[in-house]
Amino acid sequence: MSRQKSSLLAIAVVTLALTPVPALAQTPTPTPAPKPAVAAKKPAAKKTPVDCEQVKCLALTFDDGPGKYAGKLLDTLKKYDAKATFFLEGQYVKARPAFVKRMVQEGHDVGNHSYTHPDFTKLEPAAIRSEIQKTQDAVKKAAGVEPKLLRPPYGLADIQVSEVAAEFDMPIILWTAGSRDWDTKNVGAIEKQTLAVAQQDGIILMHDWVKQTVDAMPSLIKTLQGKGYHLVTVSDIVKRQNLQPGDAFPLPEGWEN
Ligand SMILES: [Zn+2]
Repeated sequence: MSRQKSSLLAIAVVTLALTPVPALAQTPTPTPAPKPAVAAKKPAAKKTPVDCEQVKCLALTFDDGPGKYAGKLLDTLKKYDAKATFFLEGQYVKARPAFVKRMVQEGHDVGNHSYTHPDFTKLEPAAIRSEIQKTQDAVKKAAGVEPKLLRPPYGLADIQVSEVAAEFDMPIILWTAGSRDWDTKNVGAIEKQTLAVAQQDGIILMHDWVKQTVDAMPSLIKTLQGKGYHLVTVSDIVKRQNLQPGDAFPLPEGWEN
């Protein structure tokens, strides 16, 4: 399969789609130095509440996983007390359930990214439903929860996809910018691109199947936190959007929620 071509499509859709993020009068709050992770016996299940109206928030999102480097990524996130969102592909949830369990236990968001990564806009509603349901079931089996966010493969959605998402009570989550990690596969380039597109309340597209992305994370997280960003889940970012089932965020061009 050509992820590269597909990702280009997605970016084409989404770069047109940026909704200006409300720039409220926020002074960036300095981020406290990250605490070294203590080897806790039991990971804390609850998330520390972060108010993105008060602090500068950014959501890193990882698609198509859990990838084989997810464990290392989770270690890094834990070390720097950062949260992330994983848009999971059901077939890999089934293959690597332990990572999914850890994601949930450690306070990250898990979203639905289909079972086999087809273009939803080319499927009948019944097939879209089946792709979503199978992934819901796989995540439930692995981690005891069902995803509440949908990111359709390639970021491609239409009215029919929106209607099926609504049946599952899920909004459609796209991204404000990409790290281009699938393209560059270079640690320095991934860090540079991500820093260039990071913005308050941004949602960044990354992939935990790209080794260089996972390798870039310690330095990238330290730098982002040094710039005052709180790395939070997508749920934290969209809390104020009052998204209804089937709504898309950020809004694609020509799309009205
Ligand atoms: Zn994908």
